[in-house]
Amino acid sequence: MPRQHDPTLSRHQWVYDRRDVSRIFDVGDSTISSWIQGGLEPVDGKRPELFAGHTLHHFLNRRRWPHGRPPENGRLYCEPCSGFKTLVPDSVSVTALDTGRHQVTGKCTDCHGALKAFVCTRDLTGIQERSFNNPRHTPDVKDGRFPKPVKLGPRITVWRADDIRALIANGTAASA
Ligand SMILES: [Zn+2]
Repeated sequence: MPRQHDPTLSRHQWVYDRRDVSRIFDVGDSTISSWIQGGLEPVDGKRPELFAGHTLHHFLNRRRWPHGRPPENGRLYCEPCSGFKTLVPDSVSVTALDTGRHQVTGKCTDCHGALKAFVCTRDLTGIQERSFNNPRHTPDVKDGRFPKPVKLGPRITVWRADDIRALIANGTAASA
């Protein structure tokens, strides 16, 4: 198992030379050379090489999670926001894979950037529930594609878990 390097150690807006990279990630020159061979791109072709912080961050993230960073509590990791984010409900799209897993895509609620992850059914349910229960967004239920929400109070709207599961399974709401 290769050593894991924490992608968050580099700052997005900063630029680093080899000595900086070596110090921050506690790696030798040969490791940095292997990273470059593996696809880490310096800011230009000049010497000494310089590396943008966000390039280092993305490169190490890809190595750490080649299939995308796993979700946490129904939220996907957004690189530009550097954090786990809820998806905009009507942007959520799910593709079932042969492996029994699902590809889920959607927009970050904060930056509206495209997010993608490969997840198991349990994580997918969490993502759907979290997205639909986000009070900042109300999906369009008129066409029956989305389940009817249940109003618990003037400012609280929730969805039934069974409706969300049906939406995942059939693409439509159970009660529609
Ligand atoms: Zn974002």
